[in-house]
Amino acid sequence: MTDCIFCRVGRGASPSWKVYENDKVYAFLDINPATRYHTLVIPKAHYTNIFDIAEEDLKEVITVVQKIARLYREKLGMEDIQIISNTGAAAQQTVFHIHFHIVPRSTTDGQDIHWVTHREWRGEFNDMLEKLR
Ligand code: 5GP
Ligand code: ZN
Repeated sequence: MTDCIFCRVGRGASPSWKVYENDKVYAFLDINPATRYHTLVIPKAHYTNIFDIAEEDLKEVITVVQKIARLYREKLGMEDIQIISNTGAAAQQTVFHIHFHIVPRSTTDGQDIHWVTHREWRGEFNDMLEKLR
């Protein structure tokens, strides 16, 4: 896929609310924001997700993520931010052009991401790590 919706946004062929742009990276407001200033940061080049993005482009993207986090802190006083990159359909990726969500958070924003956790799996940790060797 070389002409997905985020490819078009990144080269200005689809309208978007631009936050920041340089040669390699484009940042814009999410059309369905979870909180105010919910932002997406993408490479202009097409990559599906963390598995295929070139290391150099990943560095460029994450540097812009930091730049925007600092911008929001400086201009808007936002100190609490979630940075999320869903990878694969089961991980709730819906647009298959890699993107990092920047979601400013506050205690009054009405959002609550809550994982069900499994402390009972600690007994499997050694076996799990063995599979990586
Ligand atoms: P994902 O679910 O893949 O992690 O996130 C995709 C995000 O892209 C969603 O939050 C969705 O609202 C946003 N999105 C999808 N299409 C567009 C679009 O055309 N413009 C903008 N600004 N955001 C989009
Ligand atoms: Zn694309």
